[in-house]
Amino acid sequence: MSTTRLDAVTGGPALTDDEATALRHEAISYAAQHGLLVATESSESGATMPSTFTHAPIALLPTPFPADVFALATRVAPLFASVSDAVSRDDAFLRETLAGVIRADDFTRRVWDIYERCGGQEGRHPMELGVLRTDYMLDAPSGLPLQVEVNTVSTSFMALSTRVSQMHRRAIEWLGAERARLPTNSALELAAETLHAGWRAMNDDDARVLMVVQPCERNVFDQRMIEAALWERHGVKTIRATLREIASDAVVAEDDAKTLTYRGARVSVVYYRAGYAPTDYPSEAEWDARLLLERSGAVKSPSAAMHLAGTKKVQQTLASPGGLERFVECEEDVRAMRSVFAGLYALDGEDAVAAVELGLNAPESYVLKPQREGGGNNLYGEALRAQLAKFTPDAPIGSDGDLSSFILMQRILPPVNRTLCLRNGEMQELETLSELGIYGGYLRVGEDVAMNVVGGHLLRTKAASSDEGGVAAGYAVLDSPCLT
Ligand code: ADP
Ligand code: MG
Ligand code: MG
Repeated sequence: MSTTRLDAVTGGPALTDDEATALRHEAISYAAQHGLLVATESSESGATMPSTFTHAPIALLPTPFPADVFALATRVAPLFASVSDAVSRDDAFLRETLAGVIRADDFTRRVWDIYERCGGQEGRHPMELGVLRTDYMLDAPSGLPLQVEVNTVSTSFMALSTRVSQMHRRAIEWLGAERARLPTNSALELAAETLHAGWRAMNDDDARVLMVVQPCERNVFDQRMIEAALWERHGVKTIRATLREIASDAVVAEDDAKTLTYRGARVSVVYYRAGYAPTDYPSEAEWDARLLLERSGAVKSPSAAMHLAGTKKVQQTLASPGGLERFVECEEDVRAMRSVFAGLYALDGEDAVAAVELGLNAPESYVLKPQREGGGNNLYGEALRAQLAKFTPDAPIGSDGDLSSFILMQRILPPVNRTLCLRNGEMQELETLSELGIYGGYLRVGEDVAMNVVGGHLLRTKAASSDEGGVAAGYAVLDSPCLT
């Protein structure tokens, strides 16, 4: 069953079928012992806990990944954290960059409205707290890590990726290939440390962290492990609540501190693991909750402004000439950051005609992206062509011919690997592509950047035949890199 590709990881002969089966048993056992699990039923509220689980979708062995590509992605990640925060603080840049998107896309407009209704920059909380992840794919033709996107809201898998790295280390030892280079992964610790840093900066020992969660969440352990780390390592209590629960049970005091309480408990940090997609707001109640949290005196991870700074439209604008220079002084940093940008093209303004032409001439070489998060939203191939074909210059905003809410991106072409994937107990060897995520923790208090660190990573590996790569969306498995 297994092929020579596995040799690159184990450094030994290819796995036999019996070894692969034994590895499957070890992996499932490890997953159950260490919370590398997802629920098979959904919870109904923030507080309820599902009671049936399976192992998370995982790769049985790590995937070879070039060390220099990993190093470059790690080097630029905190630079992108600084830039995202700087963008979030630049009203004119946000306003101008997102003008077309805000008019064409209801969801982005609603997040923008919250930013404005809370007073724009003047109304902003003095602190920004970021649990961030920038994603890269190794572009085979150039040998560079090209940035897929910057995530500033609701980044996931800090805990499960840490467990996968540990499981892979165990598997490698078990196979007797100790020399494999598996970078340490402390994403889980980093998530808790970052939230703790924000909590400490708020200076209220009795206050809690409010984790905003989806009502039908299955990826609960990834969140619960952060909650546990916050309590066990830092003595901080976490409350889980959905936006709907917050709408009915949270209160903001009408005093200067705008103290946030949820069911009587004071909250100093709001950590969003929901609220990034239109489906998180089925009614006005959820938007009311988002507005209430934004205007409260608690520090938000992220603020509405930082959420907006993580949009694909912002990424595309930063990649355009002069985009980075507005925010980054050091030329060497600019060069490093620019080297990881794929081709990114605006579909609003005067450059739209040329971008549409590019895409129509080679639909397979591009990805068409709306301003959405969570996977499954991009258009490829024929669907991309059909959407671009609707373009009409000067079409009224929001009409079929208007593509302002999209950006066009060069399709990154990663090398193909072979991976033993395990999903719902079933093992399958697939031809795969991988995407590397680098986690960051960020805290700004006023003008002082108190924290901007890298501390962990995620490799997501998907079938080479699949366009998208979301693990939660069912396209990919959690994996870890073996540096080559
Ligand atoms: P989301 O915020 O929904 O995760 P992404 O930009 O990460 O949006 O796109 C989702 C997935 O689509 C990625 O994980 C990746 O698998 C694929 N993808 C996105 N951009 C590109 C690209 N430029 N080239 C190849 N694949 C891409
Ligand atoms: Mg995203
Ligand atoms: Mg993504």
